[in-house]
Amino acid sequence: MNSIDSLLHESRRFPPSPEFVANAVATPALAAAAASDRLGFWGDQARELLHWHQPFTEVLDWSNPPFAKWFADGRLNVAYNCLDRHVLAGNGDRVALHWEGEPGDSRSLTYAELTAEVKKAANALAALGVVRGDRIALYLPVVPEAVIAMLAIARLGAIHSVVFGGFSADSLRARIDDAQAKLVITADGGWRKGKVFPLKATVDAAVEGTTVEHVLVVRRGENDVEWTEGRDLWWHEAVGTADAEHEAEAFESENPLFILYTSGTTGKPKGILHSSGGYLTQVAYTHKNVFDLHPETDVYWCTADVGWITGHSYVVYGPLANGATQVLYEGTPDTPHPGRWWELIEKYKVSIFYTAPTAIRSFMKLGREIPDAFDLSSIRVLGSVGEPINPEAWIWYREVIGGGHAPIVDTWWQTETGAIMVSPLPGITSLKPGSAQTPIPGIELAVVNDDGSPVEKGSGGLLVITQPWPSMARGIWGDNDRFIETYWEKFADAPGGPLYFAGDGARLDEDGDLWLLGRVDDVMNVSGHRLSTAEIESALVSHPIVAESAVVGAHDETTGQAVVAFVILRAEHAADHTPEQASAVLRGHVATSIGAIARPREIFIVAELPKTRSGKIMRRLLQDVAEGRAIGDTTTLADTSVMQIISDRMDAAG
Ligand code: ATP
Ligand code: MG
Repeated sequence: MNSIDSLLHESRRFPPSPEFVANAVATPALAAAAASDRLGFWGDQARELLHWHQPFTEVLDWSNPPFAKWFADGRLNVAYNCLDRHVLAGNGDRVALHWEGEPGDSRSLTYAELTAEVKKAANALAALGVVRGDRIALYLPVVPEAVIAMLAIARLGAIHSVVFGGFSADSLRARIDDAQAKLVITADGGWRKGKVFPLKATVDAAVEGTTVEHVLVVRRGENDVEWTEGRDLWWHEAVGTADAEHEAEAFESENPLFILYTSGTTGKPKGILHSSGGYLTQVAYTHKNVFDLHPETDVYWCTADVGWITGHSYVVYGPLANGATQVLYEGTPDTPHPGRWWELIEKYKVSIFYTAPTAIRSFMKLGREIPDAFDLSSIRVLGSVGEPINPEAWIWYREVIGGGHAPIVDTWWQTETGAIMVSPLPGITSLKPGSAQTPIPGIELAVVNDDGSPVEKGSGGLLVITQPWPSMARGIWGDNDRFIETYWEKFADAPGGPLYFAGDGARLDEDGDLWLLGRVDDVMNVSGHRLSTAEIESALVSHPIVAESAVVGAHDETTGQAVVAFVILRAEHAADHTPEQASAVLRGHVATSIGAIARPREIFIVAELPKTRSGKIMRRLLQDVAEGRAIGDTTTLADTSVMQIISDRMDAAG
C-alpha cells in the first residue's frame, strides 16, 4: 500500500473579502500567465522585479539535471537590487528596518542609511581580503549588522554561511570547517530572555585551528571578551572608518550567494547552496504576491531569526528587494512580558505578520487575554511557515491576531526550495484552515505513489516537484553526490526528467488542494493503515484543553505500530484534569473525531516537547522514548533537558 489514509475532515471556508480583492497584488491574470508559458513567465518576473546590469537571453538551462542554471548569461548584483536602486528611484527616505532590541532600545534605518552602511561594510571586508567566492560565517544576534553583513558579503560576490546564534562551539566549528570559512562575523553577545548571552567566547572556542583568519566583532552585549591581537577586529572600528562609497560589481546570475544548513529535524544538517539571480527572483516574487505587499504603506514583520532560511528569504532578500518597510526584533516573545510581540505590532502598526505554528500554539497555551490587551487592528495579512498549522491554531490565529478578517497564507517550502512553493494567494484563494492549498503560479508539483504515479484526488502520497524552479538549491556544499541521493534518486527515471522528492507527505483533497501530512518518515502503519502524524496532532489540538501535541508510531505486538501521543495542556485547563483523566478524554476525542483506528494507545501529558532550535518538533526523539530506546542525536535540539523530563514523566506514568 502506497497512499496515506486520510481521516481529517475540515469544511470551513474563508473567501477573500471584496475590499481585499479590489486592492490585491496577485490577480487571476498572474496564474493565467504562468500557466500559458511557464518559462516566459519567470523571465518576465526576473525582468520586472530585479535590475540586471546585463540582461539574460536564456531563462533556464536544464541540460545537466539536477543542477539548474537560471538566467545564466545575465549579470546582477544582489545587494544593489536590495539597496541602491531603491535610493536611486527616490525611496531613500523610506524606512527599511525598524529594529527593536530586547531591552527596549531601538533603531530605524532608511534605505539610504542601510545602503551607506552596507557600502562601508563592503569596503571593510574588501580591506580584509574578502573577494568573490570566499566563505564567511556569521554568528550573530538579530541586530541590523546581521542584515548589513549579509548584504555586504553579497555585494562582493562572496558567500555567507549564517549559523544560528544558539548553536554550540562544536556545531559552529563543524560549519566553519565544512565551508572552509575565512572570516567569522560575530558580536560580543546578544540579548535573550533579559540577559546577555556571550557569542564571541563561543567563536573563540570554535575557530582555533580552522581556516578562519579574522574575527570581526559587533559590539552589542557590552560583555567582556577575550581578544586575539591581529585576528580580532571591532566592527565599529573596521566598518566605522570605512569609505561610504562603493560601486557594486555585477556578477553572473549563478554566482553562489549563500550556504545554509537545514534545521536538522530529521538528522545531520545539510549545507544547502543557493545562487543569485533565480533565488532573488523567486523570493521577491513570492514576498510580493503571497503577502500582498504594498511597499509604500505596509509594515511587514517576519519573526524568524536570520539564521534560518525564512530569515534569509523573508527578512533579508525578499523584503529588501521589494523595498518593504519591516520590523526586526532581537529577543524572545516573552521578554520582558508575554505580550511583547503584540506590543511591537501595536507600536509599529504592523500590517503583514509572518510566524510559525509553534509560536501560535504557545500563545494559545497562554490564553487570548494577552494579545487582546493590544491594538492589533493594523494587521491585514497573516502568514505561517515551518510545520503544518492545525485547523484550530489557524482559526485562533485569524480570530485573535487577525481580528477575524485577516487572510492566512500557510506557506510550504524548505531550505532546499529557497522560497515559498505552496501557498494560498490572499486576494484569490478561498482559504481552508490547515491546508496550504495550491502551488504558487510558476511552480509545478504533484502528489505521487511510491512508483511515481499521481494519486487520485482524495488520497495522500509523496509530495514531489516536477519542474525546476528559480530558487531551487544548486547543491549541497562540497557533496553533490549527497544532493543527488537525498532528493533526486527516488524518482530519477520519471518520464519528463527527474522529480525532486521533498521528504514530506501530502494529501490532495477533492478540489485538488494540498494538505501537508508531515514527513513521510514519520508516517505510521497501524494495522495496515498508513496514518499521518499531522492529522492526529490536529485532532488532538482541536480539543479545547490541548495546546500542543506530537504523535509518533511505536512498535506494537498486535497492530505493527501504535499511535503514541505527547500532549501539552492549555494553561487554563491544566489544573482541572489529572493526567489520567485528560488522557482518557483525549483518546476518546481522537476516536470520535477521526476514527477508532487513530485512537492513541497512550497519551502522555507533558510540559514541553523536544524542538529544534528553529521550533520544529523532533518526533524521532519521542519515538526513541516511546519504544524504550536510548535517545538519539540531540545536537540540534533547543533544550536538551526536555528529553529527560519527558522520560521521567513516562516512567512515572508507568
Ligand atoms: P532537516 O531537513 O535537516 O531535517 P528541516 O526539514 O526541518 O531539517 P527546513 O528546511 O527548515 O529544515 O524545514 C523544511 C520542512 O519544514 C519541510 O520539509 C516541511 O516538513 C516543514 N514545513 C515547512 N513549512 C510547512 C508548512 N507550511 N506546512 C507543513 N510543513 C511545513
Ligand atoms: Mg528537510
